[in-house]
Amino acid sequence: MAISEQVVYETAVELHRRAATVLPQDVRARLKALEDGEQDGLSRFVLSCIADNWAAAEQDSRPLCADTGLPRFYVKCGNDLQLDGGFHALETALRRATQEATRAIPLRPNRVHPLSRRDFNNNVGAHAPGIAYTFEPEGDWIDITTVHRGGLFGSDYRMLFPSDGIPGIKRFFLDCLGQFFQRGLSCPPVIVGIGLGGTKDDSFRIGQEAACLRLIGDRNPDPQIAELEQELEELGNSSGFGPMGFRGRSSILSVHVESAYAHTGGLPVSVHHFCFAARRSTVRINNDNSVEFREDPLWFTPYYRREEV
Ligand code: SF4
Repeated sequence: MAISEQVVYETAVELHRRAATVLPQDVRARLKALEDGEQDGLSRFVLSCIADNWAAAEQDSRPLCADTGLPRFYVKCGNDLQLDGGFHALETALRRATQEATRAIPLRPNRVHPLSRRDFNNNVGAHAPGIAYTFEPEGDWIDITTVHRGGLFGSDYRMLFPSDGIPGIKRFFLDCLGQFFQRGLSCPPVIVGIGLGGTKDDSFRIGQEAACLRLIGDRNPDPQIAELEQELEELGNSSGFGPMGFRGRSSILSVHVESAYAHTGGLPVSVHHFCFAARRSTVRINNDNSVEFREDPLWFTPYYRREEV
């Protein structure tokens, strides 16, 4: 059997709905832990308001925030995948689903032409929604994750020297916290994704994926990187920033670092914030057209992180 375009379309509309209106369990649990540990009264109040807001949004099956972000897809293909109509049919289904979800949920139609500001009112346009692909050596399925990133989604890049090392990474991480929070580029608490190494575009790609496609509490399997994640998380939560930029100790939900082999002369670093609205949802569609929704994107597999030839 092969996966039909209609099944992809209907499933992707539902995937968008879940991402927009259901807060993932890992984010929910971490927000509660931050609220319990926050000493500042105002910041505790803000965190409790976020929880109340989510409960109300979920009850009405509506998005938490008026900015419903920029929907995009991450597609992982098993090597034995069968797609009726091939990848053209898949992409058509995902674009149609984004148009329908924008109307039905509704999502705010955020996508506009960068100069004319023309808006088709459906979150579809040139290079929108973005679709990224990875592959697995086995599997008669396709995994589709949608992420709706906050519109201004703080991201930045810096080319460090190898000798800047971990102190340089920490400096950049803290500079981004201050800049993004003060300029309203992200709403804390946030998941911070960091891309270390690779080329500039590799660093950006894996850093954004680290922010959006890993569960809170999941540590990088490389012990040196896992230790850095822990250190940065503690550093961020002792920086004086609390939720929504108030004073406190709870601006960071989690720090996720991913690495790629870099040029021997440089240490590229990118930093990305994914706000507490954390809109993501994943589904597996099997070749027999059966469908399984889940919360964990399972994006960073051992195969995806492989080092060998
Ligand atoms: S960063 Fe998140 S919470 Fe803030 S406006 Fe954007 S989507 Fe809403």
